[in-house]
Amino acid sequence: MKTPYQEWTEEVLNTSIRVGSIKPRSKVHKYTRATKHGKTIVCPECNKVATVYHFAWSALSCQHCNNMIDKYDWKLL
Ligand SMILES: [Zn+2]
Repeated sequence: MKTPYQEWTEEVLNTSIRVGSIKPRSKVHKYTRATKHGKTIVCPECNKVATVYHFAWSALSCQHCNNMIDKYDWKLL
């Protein structure tokens, strides 16, 4: 369940990525870990963010474009 703060944060990040003021620099790798506050990852198909709380999955479908994205294809900010 997302908090209003998280939704606001994701909206700000989505806008920043869209206008190019921030760019995802790397991809998820096998040592990527989430903190208890979650980790922001970016869909490689639509460049929108998602927040995850663990990486115990091999693929995750994007809530924005509905593509099934392999773990190591997600990008990191
Ligand atoms: Zn997507």
